[in-house]
Amino acid sequence: MGIDEDILDRQKRIGNWQQEPISKSNVLVVGAGALGNEVVKSLLQLGVEKITLIDYDIVVNANLNRCVFFSLDDAKNKRLKAQVVSEKGMELFASAKIVPIIKKVEELEEDFFSKFDVAFSCLDNLNARLHLNANCYGKTPLIDGGTTGFLGKVQVVGKESSCIECAISKRDYKHLWEKYSCVGEVLDFIDPKMPAISTTNSIIAALQVNEFLKLRMDSLVKENNLVGKYLLYDGRRNEFKIFAVEKRKDCPVH
Ligand SMILES: [Zn+2]
Repeated sequence: MGIDEDILDRQKRIGNWQQEPISKSNVLVVGAGALGNEVVKSLLQLGVEKITLIDYDIVVNANLNRCVFFSLDDAKNKRLKAQVVSEKGMELFASAKIVPIIKKVEELEEDFFSKFDVAFSCLDNLNARLHLNANCYGKTPLIDGGTTGFLGKVQVVGKESSCIECAISKRDYKHLWEKYSCVGEVLDFIDPKMPAISTTNSIIAALQVNEFLKLRMDSLVKENNLVGKYLLYDGRRNEFKIFAVEKRKDCPVH
């Protein structure tokens, strides 16, 4: 194949790039909203061939400022988010298989989650996040993203690391975020009607997928990943802060 014929040629030029574990990954994406759209887009561009996408919701006009796969027609026809992303994603990348599941993540059984190599949490509410966290823990690494306005977070939960619940239950964490207090409780990212823009959304989704690469490629330095850590991004100040999340002994998940 000529150098301009192979879709993945340019990324294979990165030193020690391992395409096989990327292409063959079996990936779960929970949430087909703003982060879910961007995460799926980036996974497809990286050559991931097997994605399962969970979302029960329909497209509305207010999604269109940050969801690359949605159109006015999708909103007008009240189309299901997971269905639209799957169809359009496979149209663009013929070698990929995206399976939409039209359910709430809380409706899925525990053993459903163990068949994936990596899970992405692209959710907008805490209950669903905690359900996913509890069901993936010890089985499937989880990459969680969240945004509100110019702020975003990424947290990676490894098989034995601290988890989402370790971080959100720790109220004394708050003092670390004093400078962010003007925007209120940033950590939980729980209100689906939070302010949201495409720039923050793209950055956080890209960081999530970049962590996926570190989990899947042996050639990348493990010490530099976000497993057991919490990254906070502030787009107004161009700041990235990374905190280690303590594994709480009294965490109900482990
Ligand atoms: Zn925990």
